Amino acid sequence: MSQLSGGEIVELSKRQQHIIEIVKEDGPITGEQIAERLNLTRATLRPDLAILTMAGFLDARPRVGYFYTGKTGNELLTETIKKYKVQDYQSRPIVVEESTSVYDAISTMFLEDVGTLFVVDHHSCLTGVLSRKDLLRASLGKQDLAAIPVHIIMTRMPNITVCRRSDLLIEVAKQLIDKQIDGIPVVKDTTQGLEVTGRITKTTITKVFVELVMDDQV
Ligand code: ADP
Repeated sequence: MSQLSGGEIVELSKRQQHIIEIVKEDGPITGEQIAERLNLTRATLRPDLAILTMAGFLDARPRVGYFYTGKTGNELLTETIKKYKVQDYQSRPIVVEESTSVYDAISTMFLEDVGTLFVVDHHSCLTGVLSRKDLLRASLGKQDLAAIPVHIIMTRMPNITVCRRSDLLIEVAKQLIDKQIDGIPVVKDTTQGLEVTGRITKTTITKVFVELVMDDQV
């Protein structure tokens, strides 16, 4: 049996699983009583009880004892993921100005190794988004790419999905799916508009998904 706790997976020992069974059946029950049932001392049991409480299996109330929270592994996993905030996972945004040419935007995309560029005005405020396909589409004709500014082809405000640093990562992940886009800018409200301060992409979410498991294995 394994359980998520603060982003880490805790493998439960046989003894810990036994403790959960006892508390499930007879809780609320004191640490002393659990120790008696297992023929162990209270001191030996203390680390196990601490782990089970931290992982969310058990709850402890003073003078009452331990009781089973009744939460499934999935519920505890959901609780963990719902603590993840944009501010803890956002990466550096790559921005270009509205007057940048399509040619230079393509170069920037390669040089910075990103799939989405954000377009800003001279106050560094968000005005547009450029995806790989936006730039590919603009490259299909015979136009001079160095002569077309990106503001002609970008997806523009107010049709841009944004998020803020205090948003929940899971909500942003849902937006990426619902809107069928690869990246969302993290913005800060200013008097001039929305200042771009970060980005959340499908890669961000994939990394979090992998780290959730790998953290426990290193
Ligand atoms: P691609 O077009 O390369 O598949 P996306 O799926 O990210 O990449 O983009 C699809 C379309 O949605 C593009 O026209 C792009 O400009 C637009 N787009 C990308 N990100 C956003 C966003 N955060 N808000 C609104 N539109 C976006």
